[in-house]
Amino acid sequence: LSTESQSILSAYEWLAKLYHHLLRHTKDGKEGYTYLKERGLHDDTIDTFQLGFAPNITDFTTEFLEKKGFHQQLMVKAGLLSQKDDNSVSDRFSGRVIFPIRNHLGKTIAFNGRAINGQGPKYLHSAESELFRKGKTLFNFDLAKKHIRKENEAVLFEGSMDVISAYQAGVKNGIATLGTSLTDSQAKLLKRYVDTVILCYDGDRAGMDATYKAAQLLQNVGAYVKIARLSEDMDPDSFIRQYGGEAFIDQVIKPSTTFMGFYMRYVKKDFNLSLEGDRIKYVETVLRQVAVIDSPVEREYYLKELSNEYNISMDTLTEEIHQYRQKSG
Ligand code: ATP
Ligand code: MN
Ligand code: MN
Ligand code: MN
Repeated sequence: LSTESQSILSAYEWLAKLYHHLLRHTKDGKEGYTYLKERGLHDDTIDTFQLGFAPNITDFTTEFLEKKGFHQQLMVKAGLLSQKDDNSVSDRFSGRVIFPIRNHLGKTIAFNGRAINGQGPKYLHSAESELFRKGKTLFNFDLAKKHIRKENEAVLFEGSMDVISAYQAGVKNGIATLGTSLTDSQAKLLKRYVDTVILCYDGDRAGMDATYKAAQLLQNVGAYVKIARLSEDMDPDSFIRQYGGEAFIDQVIKPSTTFMGFYMRYVKKDFNLSLEGDRIKYVETVLRQVAVIDSPVEREYYLKELSNEYNISMDTLTEEIHQYRQKSG
């Protein structure tokens, strides 16, 4: 590790500790503590994730880092301080609840800061650096790793708050990307540890689109994908808040469906199923996906479902799928 990187790691360690202390024990961090309590987090969860608060005091962090002897330009590069056009340097995360982002060794390499008074973007991440590449990092991977191995299953969420709520509810094999789509290298990293990945994204359109893309990527690296279903207006954290952790496990995680189960719902958006022509196109679209399934048992299962729902004989469906398989074979 270069001396610069060592210095950056040390700054993150100092600040993570300081912000956490302020949130847990001081007036300057009370806003952040109240916010997390109102979102249902327990003290031990706040401690496990070392959640903190960057106080809303001008130049608080800039001055702290200066006193500790950190080089200011390096701290800008590390994504801890902001530099304006006139070259003046100021705090980057002030007034935000801090979610430390750790690497696989448990070292904090970045922050994700959530605004709690509606100012600026909802979430702000540290700038990328030599140590922090969003597309190569998974939130909570260091803690989740041993649970992922043990259960041979990982649960992938959209947001860090989802991971934390689920963790508190007993789902400890949860991880999340950092506000970006899943990348190929994250998918490969996961596949090294686990065979099955449960996708548990938000129930809205954006979440479904992201689910589709992530599922493709994961399947391409040979992972088996299951999909957890949430209603349109829910994300995992809000579900847990409303119905509790036990309901989350029993009604969302355990009944996760196969990719095809999800796909049959997902592609319906592209068709108006009250029109005969669209119904036919829909069935053809689904068939094309069924055709690439290796297991004959699984293929037959979905063919039967289509046959029942759209009143098409199994013979016809089988014939059509045979053509697709020959073409792709
Ligand atoms: P919360 O429950 O605190 O509102 P969330 O996790 O439900 O947050 P989403 O809006 O679902 O947030 O977004 C998922 C993830 O995308 C967030 O955890 C964050 O990492 C990222 N994200 C959300 N909004 C922004 C933003 N404005 N800028 C950058 N990243 C963002
Ligand atoms: Mn979302
Ligand atoms: Mn969300
Ligand atoms: Mn949320």
